[in-house]
Amino acid sequence: MRIFIPREHDGEPRVAASPDTVKKLKGLGAEVVVETNAGTRSKITDQAYEAAGASIGDSGSGKDADAVLKVARPTKEEAAGYKRDAVVLALMDPYGNEDALKDLADAGIMAFAMELMPRITRAQVMDVLSSQANLAGYQAVIDASHEFDRAFPMMMTAAGTVPAAKVFVMGAGVAGLQAIATAKRLGARVSATDVRPDTKEQVESLGAKFVAVENDEFRKAQDSGGYATEMSQDYQKQQAELVAEHIAGQDVVITTALIPGRPAPKLVSKAMIDAMKPGSILVDLAVERGGNVEGSRPGEIVEAGPARIVGYRNVSGRIAASASLLYAKNLSSFLETMIDKDGGTPSLKVDFEDPLVKATLLTRDGRVVHEKFGGASL
Ligand code: NAD
Repeated sequence: MRIFIPREHDGEPRVAASPDTVKKLKGLGAEVVVETNAGTRSKITDQAYEAAGASIGDSGSGKDADAVLKVARPTKEEAAGYKRDAVVLALMDPYGNEDALKDLADAGIMAFAMELMPRITRAQVMDVLSSQANLAGYQAVIDASHEFDRAFPMMMTAAGTVPAAKVFVMGAGVAGLQAIATAKRLGARVSATDVRPDTKEQVESLGAKFVAVENDEFRKAQDSGGYATEMSQDYQKQQAELVAEHIAGQDVVITTALIPGRPAPKLVSKAMIDAMKPGSILVDLAVERGGNVEGSRPGEIVEAGPARIVGYRNVSGRIAASASLLYAKNLSSFLETMIDKDGGTPSLKVDFEDPLVKATLLTRDGRVVHEKFGGASL
């Protein structure tokens, strides 16, 4: 069986294989072909892939591959260049992109959306949302410190004392918890909020202060999958009042709040920003999903009254060498579950009853098959 790893488009610096994962897949008996310069922006050379056992090909090498490992969803043209029935693993970004899913279906490939991987123990090693959000949370603090014209830690010097920066993290999921930990390591005074009650203990265990309206609705605000539910208007109003007061005293605000399949909740208004101190920084990690901060714009740093709003796209891609290593491992671990190692030569065998396959498979046999996107399982 043949596995192909293409070079991503110019806006995506990550790559879907590392020398380690190539070695692992080779060890299972697969032939691995990496497109030339696929790893350059993640600091992995063609020679490093070759040393791990891959051969280097061109962009057309996908046409006879049984599996294609990608970061971004393949374009219509790319998908049309793959073999029918090829297994394609990527961040498919399926919500609101029904036309693109149809293109994948038309290409006849089996497209798997890695971001739909269930958050269960067995799939932890395949959890791309966690591996990438963790790095994004770290990078958000680094980006904030870069934009902030003051120091993060308190410094007591002969010439006077520099106060510690006050950092407020909104949304304490994977990215938010890493942002809290990183800001603490840099010496900031950190506080955080979330609508899920479980997060209070997690925030406090990192040494940060928890800030939220803790009423009955808050105590129930979590679905069975552990995700946030959308809060009532009344709760949002109370929370906004509390947050407005808190934000006015902060130097840095990092927002990470998401609700799966829905636009990001608006958490920081222009009025709240206007009440901040000169030189304050907001980093909106939800900017590509509509944004948590009023006025944030994808791919831009916006001057907003006394503050600056940082809205980088693809924040884990800003730390591409680390992000690629983890992402590659997520993908190879999932692909491995589909490789039939019995008998002499390995082959691809997708178990359509496997819950991980059911949760992530978008297209098959020319059709969209995922129930969330209008498909009915075959
Ligand atoms: P996410 O990226 O979907 O959202 C980020 C955070 O924003 C969440 O904590 C959410 O509660 C919060 N949020 C949503 N609306 C908000 C609002 N109005 N105000 C403030 N905060 C708001 O979350 P995630 O990081 O992907 O984590 C989601 C869940 O998955 C969590 O319960 C997490 O513990 C769980 N998880 C489980 C595993 C596993 O078991 N393998 C791995 C990772 C995450």
